[in-house]
Amino acid sequence: MTRVASRAYWNEALETVAPGPLADLTARLLREQLAYAARRSAFYRAKWAAAAVDPARVSGPDDLPALPFTEKPDLVAAQAGGGPFGTNQAAPADALVRMQATGGTTGRPLRMAMTRRDVQTYNEVGARAAWAAGLRPGDILFECMNYSLYAGGVSDHLTFETVGACVAPVGVGQSRRLLEILGDLGADAMLYSTPSYARHLAEVAREQGLDPRGLRLRRGLFSGDAGLANRAYRDAIEETYGLVARNIYGTGETAPVAAECDLADGLHFLGQGTFHPELVDPATGAPVALRDGADGELVLTTLTREAHPLIRFRTHDQIRVTTAPCACGRTGFRFRVLGRTDDMFIVRGVNVFPLAVGDVLGEFQPDVTGEFQVVLLEPPPLVRPPVVRVEAAAGLPETTWPALAERVGTRIRELLMFTADVEVLAAGTLPRTELKARRLVRAETDSSQ
Ligand SMILES: [Zn+2]
Repeated sequence: MTRVASRAYWNEALETVAPGPLADLTARLLREQLAYAARRSAFYRAKWAAAAVDPARVSGPDDLPALPFTEKPDLVAAQAGGGPFGTNQAAPADALVRMQATGGTTGRPLRMAMTRRDVQTYNEVGARAAWAAGLRPGDILFECMNYSLYAGGVSDHLTFETVGACVAPVGVGQSRRLLEILGDLGADAMLYSTPSYARHLAEVAREQGLDPRGLRLRRGLFSGDAGLANRAYRDAIEETYGLVARNIYGTGETAPVAAECDLADGLHFLGQGTFHPELVDPATGAPVALRDGADGELVLTTLTREAHPLIRFRTHDQIRVTTAPCACGRTGFRFRVLGRTDDMFIVRGVNVFPLAVGDVLGEFQPDVTGEFQVVLLEPPPLVRPPVVRVEAAAGLPETTWPALAERVGTRIRELLMFTADVEVLAAGTLPRTELKARRLVRAETDSSQ
């Protein structure tokens, strides 16, 4: 495959910016964005008036915690406030060129529009992420994300085109056709999907008698669920296809703001000049200093958004930060996603993220498939131990399952410091999905009465 002479970064000036100039740029853009929101968004005017705060007093990021958070349900509620996009529509109707919707598993979808400049900004940030993750002109990328309204569909697609790659809009539910095309392609290609979809596609391939390694998928860019944070899950995908896996992080309301570089040692924040990141304590909302080793919920503020500014938007993703310099030269801090703050549960005073259970299971491969589910039997406070359902690998004798359950329970107790009631199930028992894997089942919302 011919390659253009490769540069190291998509946007060297911003991806390697030093802290001082970044702080100056952020402060200036933040003041402008707040003034814009105060002028154009009835939603923010009302929110700030109710909190008795004056955005004009925010001169830089250090003052930002004076302003209230923005939660997704607030934005959904604001849709009812008139017009197609409600009271946080800050740009005129004739400036809007794209609409997408996020959420929808619970509650009403949040409708979000973009102006032409918002699209360019999304493409710019997404291109930095895709470039960091290894996408280049000359690559053929099969995008297997949900294109129906979801930002990860068309919007991410166009970030890859911005890089200059050749992108195929596959979508979901097209696995058989995709396998046909890959079989005929006669060239190396790349995949963009959720980690769950990659597992699903491999199963469909095997059902058809195809070895996934024969598909010539040489690199996978993954996003949409945190599965790749689990080392064993990631290794299994890389091994299954013989590909290099790289993680991209974003939320449907913001953009792909982070990605792994060649060194794959955490997600680099790449939203410089576009998003301002903060860390907060998910329980109290108190600011957490963004320093090496810090844990906190990621909160993002848009710096240039025209259609729907987002000021202190809570992602509900709990992250752990690394600030040590990376050999790639990018200065954006690195992080790994620990889990959804909404998925965190507390067992006898210990905070647990279901993803951490997946990490423990990594030690037990190949005896387990890696699929799992945590079932909470009651609303908090938990008295009965959570049930952890794991799948035995196909062919593992059933007589060995009780001992496996015992060993998994012991490691969970040692590493995560809680007692679980481990159930071993047959391979393929837990629900598979082409989209996001569902790892936590809560009794109060999920069981029948
Ligand atoms: Zn790096």
